[in-house]
Amino acid sequence: MFITELRCVICGRSFAPGEVEYTCPDCGPMGTLDVLYDVDAINSVISPAMISDMAEPTLWRYRALMPLAADADVPPLAVGWTPLYDAPRLADKIGLGQVWVKDDGRNPTGSLKDRASALIVARAMADHIEVVTTASTGNAAAALAGLSASVGLPAVIFVPASAPEAKIAQLLTYGAKVMLVQSNYDAAFDLAVQASERYGWYNRNTGMNPYTLEGKKTVAFEIAEQLGWRAPDVVVVSVGDGNIISGVYKGFRDLLDLGWIDHMPRLIGVQASGSAAMYDAWRRDENPATMKPISASTVADSISADLPRDAVKAMRAVRETDGAYVSVDDQAILDGIPALARLSGVFAEPAGAAVYAGVQQALEEGHIAADDEVVLLVTGNGLKDIRSAMRVAGAGYAVEPSIEQVEKIRVELGLPTFR
Ligand SMILES: *Cc1c(COP(=O)(O)O)cnc(C)c1O
Ligand SMILES: [Zn+2]
Repeated sequence: MFITELRCVICGRSFAPGEVEYTCPDCGPMGTLDVLYDVDAINSVISPAMISDMAEPTLWRYRALMPLAADADVPPLAVGWTPLYDAPRLADKIGLGQVWVKDDGRNPTGSLKDRASALIVARAMADHIEVVTTASTGNAAAALAGLSASVGLPAVIFVPASAPEAKIAQLLTYGAKVMLVQSNYDAAFDLAVQASERYGWYNRNTGMNPYTLEGKKTVAFEIAEQLGWRAPDVVVVSVGDGNIISGVYKGFRDLLDLGWIDHMPRLIGVQASGSAAMYDAWRRDENPATMKPISASTVADSISADLPRDAVKAMRAVRETDGAYVSVDDQAILDGIPALARLSGVFAEPAGAAVYAGVQQALEEGHIAADDEVVLLVTGNGLKDIRSAMRVAGAGYAVEPSIEQVEKIRVELGLPTFR
């Protein structure tokens, strides 16, 4: 393992690995920690070419760049190495030359959160942890429940009782102990913190645990590798707590520090207009460390957050890459679900599909140019939230089992015949 230090993102104080578990004791919950590595040591044992030669179709191909011993056991579920699809019809439709869709809904529990939970569970195994816990809007919980179940590790989950049914079904089916919090995500988050302090459970809470991001950053490694070890011009990603966009930043940043890529992509963060704390703070050029909570409400439950828990890193990700935040309304998010599915074949939950509206908004506002090469990061699977999809998917045609009725509809639809 090549970690040199953990460094507070606000005050810069440095900690030895293991000295602190969660956030900076001086700066409190907003003082999240960066995990830093010895790049020369990494370059002395591994190279992009060696990784490309590996027969390891999971995120563990990047183990040398992760906070995990080379010989540590890892959970068996196949997380990561998700496809990056060229999407020419989608690109055409929105007026871009080149768009790729990274389908992270393909992960074992259906979202990018599996990347974080795989690493957290691997570290928990190495540290002989006996109970893990997390708060979540749903996907982080499903990911922790699934990855924990794969190794028989007990998990206690705090979710808002209003989480989509499919996500709660996942938790219960995986056998997690599920606390259905009669309030919002932020309340669930605080409750998980209290439980972890009181009972000594290992807490995976997003942002607060510095290692969730270290798992999520592997999506950036994959994008770079899948493009032949280079960065695209732009990556578009939806933002709630800001941990994923921070992970994307960190992944490309690690590669730049290692000398494996030659530039950072511009990062575009997409927020729902009803949950736009980062967008507002960015537009007003506010200090993210002192942001005030809003009262978030959006159909895209996975990006609903009153106070983004990784605000400082999420602001840095956009400011330092010359990127931008955009805000899109719930109707645009919903309309993006069938649009993305029809133009690329990728079915996303609302928060995953938000990048479709987001990329267009960013084009309109001039944050993206027509000749930019753009990656849309799709973070969650459409089967996670069927109810939202059905609001915009359209209806089928009721027919009696009679070919004459089919014929009538065929004519209405103008479907061709070949006889
Ligand atoms: C968690 C999640 C996000 C947002 O990630 P943050 O780290 O909270 O910004 C986006 N989409 C999906 C599907 C998610 O599960
Ligand atoms: Zn600090």
